[in-house]
Amino acid sequence: MRYTKIAFVCVIIIFSMLTASGMVSRTSKVSDKVIYYEKVVALTFDDGPSRLYTNELLDGLKERGVRATFFLVGENIEGNEEIVKRMYDEGHLIGNHTYSHVKLVGMSDDAIISEISRTNEAISRITGEEVTFIRPPYGIIDERVLWDVSLTPILWSYDTNDWCSQNADCIVKNVVKNVKSGDIILMHDVYKTSVSAALRIVDELQAMGYVFVTADELIIE
Ligand SMILES: [Zn+2]
Repeated sequence: MRYTKIAFVCVIIIFSMLTASGMVSRTSKVSDKVIYYEKVVALTFDDGPSRLYTNELLDGLKERGVRATFFLVGENIEGNEEIVKRMYDEGHLIGNHTYSHVKLVGMSDDAIISEISRTNEAISRITGEEVTFIRPPYGIIDERVLWDVSLTPILWSYDTNDWCSQNADCIVKNVVKNVKSGDIILMHDVYKTSVSAALRIVDELQAMGYVFVTADELIIE
């Protein structure tokens, strides 16, 4: 299990190295135009939507013209449909983070498929689009789960540990100091500190010339 997680992180790291070396170009496709950026990162938020914090985050991202990626827990969607609709309408990417935030590896095929399909259906009912991406909880996935879920996994290359520190100053300082172009940054929109940290990270990285894209734009050329 752990090796699979490491393997996926390695794929992202290798991709980042290739990009940094100029072997792979980072692009963002806007209609028919392909735009090349020198400094680009993706902010990703897991475990929402949160009735308490996600709207505040969406307000801040909208003000700053930033699109992010949200991996939703299916059981949090009910009652928060308008937040999901807003994410979609404002151009954010929405992915699956299972229905009840479970570790998929080790579960039966039926249970895995239920966890994934219930969340896919809850999202699609709101957006009208099929879900393409999954972030497995804890970043743990193996070949059998991959086969069952039929979605493309997106892990991360930079973990802010925001759930653990819940200290906005510390989170911002670490990200700004250590982030590099091509990073997929892991955060959670279920803590107040994460929302304020994320918006400060956007301000600081934009001032450094970074452009924010959705995570799929970093893994798909
Ligand atoms: Zn999670």
